[in-house]
Amino acid sequence: MDSMFLKGLTGEVVTPKDPIYEEARQGWNRAVNKFPLLIVYCEKKQDVVNAIRWARKHRVDIRIRSGGHHYEGYSTGDCVLVIDISRLNGLKLDRKRNILKMKAGEENTEVYDFIGSNGYVFPGGTCPTVGVSGFTLGGGWGLSSRLYGLGCDSLIELELVNYEGRLIKANKSCNADLFWACRGAGGGNFGVVVSMTFQLPKPTNSSVTLVRFFYVGTTKEKQAQVMNIWQNWLPKLDKRMTLVASIL
Ligand SMILES: Cc1cc2nc3c(=O)[nH]c(=O)nc-3n(C[C@H](O)[C@H](O)[C@H](O)COP(=O)(O)OP(=O)(O)OC[C@H]3O[C@@H](n4cnc5c(N)ncnc54)[C@H](O)[C@@H]3O)c2cc1C
Repeated sequence: MDSMFLKGLTGEVVTPKDPIYEEARQGWNRAVNKFPLLIVYCEKKQDVVNAIRWARKHRVDIRIRSGGHHYEGYSTGDCVLVIDISRLNGLKLDRKRNILKMKAGEENTEVYDFIGSNGYVFPGGTCPTVGVSGFTLGGGWGLSSRLYGLGCDSLIELELVNYEGRLIKANKSCNADLFWACRGAGGGNFGVVVSMTFQLPKPTNSSVTLVRFFYVGTTKEKQAQVMNIWQNWLPKLDKRMTLVASIL
């Protein structure tokens, strides 16, 4: 690929000729088999700004990728520029106000490790490698959601690079409509989110207990009975408890 064509892109640029392209083009769902024109790994906000400007100049469609766990592979595509923000990392905790500010490339596990070691909980998801920004933009349900709400309920501010390549802020008083839309309307719609700020629940020393039951070789009638009891029991259950069931 002509290096003049790539001029303006910053961060690590991966082209189809690069040995890492084959791995870099894949997301969590390996059934999604797409061939982007380029993948740019952004390490700074400015890399994202440059990627948007480059895509506009060259009229290339973009996809935004963080943890790469979109079930249907919406963070990649054929002949697109994938703006990968997974290397946009950094976590900052304000203990006085119980506020976490993170760069948008963090995964669940990194956030759990960081704030967990400081006595905090984060209402994130169950899969360690899901990207927190993709999770939150889609609402975000986790095992503590009955107690703390969805992931997006804790979001108080975000920064994003918009379609013009401008860095803007959204919170309940600045770009309030955009902020509203970014709390559950799904990722990849309104710009590239580069940072998120969360109001955390107060620190706690309590531990988590996981109890698992397996009913092997049961009948359909028994399964229906369990579901029935469960559905009646759940609404009044202590909010600290969460139940998950799978029927195979
Ligand atoms: C194994 C597995 C377990 C899961 N567990 C849970 C769970 O417990 N709870 C739950 O609620 N969900 C869960 N999910 C769903 C998951 O939260 C969503 O698929 C989420 O969108 C993945 O985010 P990602 O950043 O990893 O994925 P990506 O594929 O990178 O992104 C997902 C979408 O968000 C967009 N996007 C990502 N980052 C940004 C950004 N910074 N700015 C703008 N747009 C962005 C992408 O363009 C894409 O449309 C799970 C998914 C998998 C595959």
